[in-house]
Amino acid sequence: MQYKIGVMNGDDIGHEVVPLAVEIMKASTTKYNNVAIDWVELPIGYKSYLDCGETLPQHTLDSLKYMDGWVLGPIGHAVYPKNDPKAINPHPIIRKVFDLHSNVRPSRSYVNVNSVQNDVDLIVVRENIEGFQPDRNVYAGTGEFMPTSDLAMSVRVITRRNSEAVAETAFKLAQQRRKKVTAIHKKSVFKMGCGLFVESCRNVAQKYPDVLYEEMHVDTSAASLVMNPQKFDVLVTTNMFGDILSDLTSGLVGGLGMAPGLCIGPKYSMAQATHGSAPGIVGKEIANPYALIMSGKMLLEWLGVQNKDSSLLNASQLIEDAVNHAIKKGMVTPDMGGEATTKEMGKAICSYVSNVHV
Ligand code: ATP
Repeated sequence: MQYKIGVMNGDDIGHEVVPLAVEIMKASTTKYNNVAIDWVELPIGYKSYLDCGETLPQHTLDSLKYMDGWVLGPIGHAVYPKNDPKAINPHPIIRKVFDLHSNVRPSRSYVNVNSVQNDVDLIVVRENIEGFQPDRNVYAGTGEFMPTSDLAMSVRVITRRNSEAVAETAFKLAQQRRKKVTAIHKKSVFKMGCGLFVESCRNVAQKYPDVLYEEMHVDTSAASLVMNPQKFDVLVTTNMFGDILSDLTSGLVGGLGMAPGLCIGPKYSMAQATHGSAPGIVGKEIANPYALIMSGKMLLEWLGVQNKDSSLLNASQLIEDAVNHAIKKGMVTPDMGGEATTKEMGKAICSYVSNVHV
């Protein structure tokens, strides 16, 4: 099978972890003769701004249409020039343009990795293009505005279409796992917004009688996730709640470096770790590449499922095996309790992939 995968490094530690993740994806997929992948590097972020005056060149957006999926590194938009319309935060636009409605964010604990909780294996499925996020929740303009200098308003958008779409993603994932979905909401207060979200989840739940469905208030879930994360399998929730809870769940298993992610839409999928560009650790060789590498693994798995391509599924499993091996050997970065540099950890994973017999 023939695929095209886009590669966008993003900013700051993106330039350190994305090339390693892509090298590992290449090493795993070239193991299988019947898989051919065209890897296409595309400019984005601050480097692109310096090179060609735009953080999201039209050429990049146009090219993504011809990809099967892509890898996007973290974006450090906080330092982009404030008053230049060409210095925009690119990732909400990409999520919106390509209808990447579901953001799948797993958190898993490992025996040999520093973590607050053990035996954690859960996924937060976060709605990705509406909710409270004002930079993506309206067609034109912004979902936030100030009628006076002393009054700010933020509008939250909840649609039946996206709520059902994200619930579908959650139930499909749960079917492959421990068969439990928890819808997280605050419908006691947001009677219409969270009410519509929960109603949509209930509708979708009826199509999956083999999956146990439960509901939980977001505040209750925050405490419950800290105290008993083991009782969760797949959580599904609206954009802002999911943004916050997925950082919380990453904290349970070792921090943001342990938090991969995949943004999924009807046609395209984007590997994008949960963490930001972490400018404070750039160049120190301590950025944990786990999140980006496992995001890449998730992309290959998604493409394998979509295209019924067992070679891609095997390639994605190979990456997971290699990551497990590196963790077992302690070839991990300091945040995971090891002493390896970013490159050493990436190279250890890559060499396992390259040398193992398939
Ligand atoms: P954003 O606003 O885009 O979500 P942020 O700036 O709030 O991002 P991050 O950049 O995600 O936050 O990082 C917060 C902190 O987490 C960093 O300062 C760093 O210490 C840690 N961190 C994030 N990603 C990694 C990583 N891959 N490896 C090691 N530490 C990381």
